[in-house]
Amino acid sequence: MKRAAIVGAGIGGLTSALLLNRQGWDVTVYERGSRVGGRIGYEQEGDYRIDQGPTIVLLPEMLLGILEEAGVDRSKIELLRCDPLYRVHYSSGRVMTKMTAREQQAEEIERLFPGESQGFSKFMKDMDTLFPAGRAAFLERAFPRKRDFFTPSLMSLMGRLRAHKSVRKAVGDYFQHEELLDAYSLQSLYIGGSPFGTPGIYSLLPYAEHEYGIWMVKGGYAALPTILEQELISRGGRIVLNTEVTGLNIKNGVCEGIETAAGAENVDAVIYNGDFPHLSGLLGQTPDGSRKRKPYRPSSGCVLIYAGVDKTWDDATTHQFFLPPSLDGSLREVFDQRRIPAKSSFYVFNPAALDETAAPPGQSVLYFLIPVPDANGVDWSRESEALAERVLEEAEQRGFPGLREAIKWQKIRTPADAERDGLYGGGSFGIAPVLFQSGVYRPQPKPFPAIRGLYAAGASVHPGGGVPIVMQSARMAVNQLMKEMET
Ligand SMILES: Cc1cc2nc3c(=O)[nH]c(=O)nc-3n(C[C@H](O)[C@H](O)[C@H](O)COP(=O)(O)OP(=O)(O)OC[C@H]3O[C@@H](n4cnc5c(N)ncnc54)[C@H](O)[C@@H]3O)c2cc1C
Repeated sequence: MKRAAIVGAGIGGLTSALLLNRQGWDVTVYERGSRVGGRIGYEQEGDYRIDQGPTIVLLPEMLLGILEEAGVDRSKIELLRCDPLYRVHYSSGRVMTKMTAREQQAEEIERLFPGESQGFSKFMKDMDTLFPAGRAAFLERAFPRKRDFFTPSLMSLMGRLRAHKSVRKAVGDYFQHEELLDAYSLQSLYIGGSPFGTPGIYSLLPYAEHEYGIWMVKGGYAALPTILEQELISRGGRIVLNTEVTGLNIKNGVCEGIETAAGAENVDAVIYNGDFPHLSGLLGQTPDGSRKRKPYRPSSGCVLIYAGVDKTWDDATTHQFFLPPSLDGSLREVFDQRRIPAKSSFYVFNPAALDETAAPPGQSVLYFLIPVPDANGVDWSRESEALAERVLEEAEQRGFPGLREAIKWQKIRTPADAERDGLYGGGSFGIAPVLFQSGVYRPQPKPFPAIRGLYAAGASVHPGGGVPIVMQSARMAVNQLMKEMET
């Protein structure tokens, strides 16, 4: 039986392990932390428990389909559909609700932005053909060779997906009002990119929300890694916690094994699931054929506030966005000037709105996510408390009356914490989704053509960040591995 070592038990590592185990490989996952899941985990205090990282499930079919391929029955994961998808609160006082049904959404847009619903209908119609093409071209295949990317048909698709413009400019072909531009470009923040610096290809995201819905996992996204852990163990796979992989053993262009504090372990293949820029630290040499490159650019960071609250709000939806007077201006401070903006945007997750198990009866757990620069250049120990206080005060005024005095437990997480946990530069979402770190320019599931037996899966690897997308990178890594090692 062939043996593989997986370095890291994030969603990319666990998915890779299950897929390989299904192919008859003997798999061991090494995780330096004390639990599986990486960015997917809980924050917990007494009776309060809330997701620490991901909260929004996008592309549910992709997620469930890959799990099924990995041998995990879809009945093990209960997804709850959020409809309305979410609300966007503007500083003008307008509140726009996003919905699944196109006609209803068009009516909502017409009510708030007269004359603009036609742009929405055209956006959806154009994307009806562009999305399947974009998914097949960029989300479901890797680019082991540069020439697989630079083909006339892919270049033409890149043009139609407006890769040469930013997401904000791309949706500007459909919408006029600044607030609508905000509502259809803020999705780049889900992957840590600015609407003005992320290529138009990512306008697939606002389309996908309407077409495939926004969902949440009952019990929290953090329930998922444990399900995968149990499945792997029940099928004979191993997970070794509290064990850091400190080196990879590469001889004559072949990855022959891993090193941990316990010694060296020989295997036939390794899949690396740590944050990709850190892989070079395990290699001990510059891989043949890889040129010295500029440092990667990390995605944006987040300040997160988790709160247990002795109160509920009947009309608050599960997901909500609160925007400042100028989202563009605020995000330029984050991404260009690399500082905490004077007026921040923020996202609120209120799982008890849909999942009665999320909080004790009559209470809520809330999660506030504030986009900020990565870990460098800000003194987080000084700045985060004041930022959190400003955001909680604003949330209280704009959507959660009585919030602050009802808070019973509160915890703050900053990009400095993320960096300590191994996220490159403290960016939350892997390397930034800018053009020259996307598609063929992003590290590939087989990152070094000259090294046999070494593969990578994770948010900084093609096709990028977000749970179902990382699972795609795991799928691609395993497919590539099987192609090379089983022939
Ligand atoms: C605040 C936040 C909100 C998010 N919101 C969403 C959302 O709503 N929806 C969504 O889809 N996605 C969201 N994401 C993104 C999503 O969480 C990530 O894309 C995904 O979880 C990354 O998975 P990964 O496989 O890259 O591994 P990670 O989660 O990064 O895990 C990697 C694991 O490898 C381990 N490791 C690293 N190096 C070693 C080593 N040398 N030896 C042993 N172990 C090692 C680490 O300890 C870690 O456990 C969010 C992320 C954050 C941080």
